[in-house]
Amino acid sequence: MYERLGINFIDAANPRHFARDPAFAWGFYGHRTNLYLETVPHDGFKILLNLIDHFNLRYFVMTSNVDGQFQKAGFKEEDICEIHGSLRHLQCIRPCSPNIWDNKENISVNYETMRAEYIPKCSYCGSIARPNILMFSDFSWISSKTDNQEERFDRFLNRCKNEKMVVVEMGAGTGIPAIRNLSERIGRIRGNSYSY
Ligand SMILES: [Zn+2]
Repeated sequence: MYERLGINFIDAANPRHFARDPAFAWGFYGHRTNLYLETVPHDGFKILLNLIDHFNLRYFVMTSNVDGQFQKAGFKEEDICEIHGSLRHLQCIRPCSPNIWDNKENISVNYETMRAEYIPKCSYCGSIARPNILMFSDFSWISSKTDNQEERFDRFLNRCKNEKMVVVEMGAGTGIPAIRNLSERIGRIRGNSYSY
């Protein structure tokens, strides 16, 4: 749909649209929110959960996905870090306060124009709300939830420092290498690392 409109992902995922043209911005993020709400987590999540159960493993999930699928698949909220935030939460575009809140919006999108027919508002000041996720060229993302999750991850690494550790990296790649860099950093900290 965006190809038809001549817009690529990086152009669309830019926070400036929320102030300049909120119906366009919420067309993009409303569509994604609706897609992710409808998505049923695939079997890969279950395979990982079965491994954790079977071997009684301690685990922590680091994900750059913003779709909340790990929670939906049954991973525990306190064992997940969403390094780029989550579409499940909203914040003010200004932002007027450090608050974030649950995304309970139902955003209908006109799929001809990819424009939202409804714009979520900030619960505190009435200006426009945006997803609490890190976008491209984003200077107003409120990172407090991710900061807390990262602290929990650091504590996890600390608790496990004398145990053997396996990093299972899936679909992360090098385009935006945040997760790849983290895997390699843990490998270096923990000594020998092998990739397959
Ligand atoms: Zn506000």
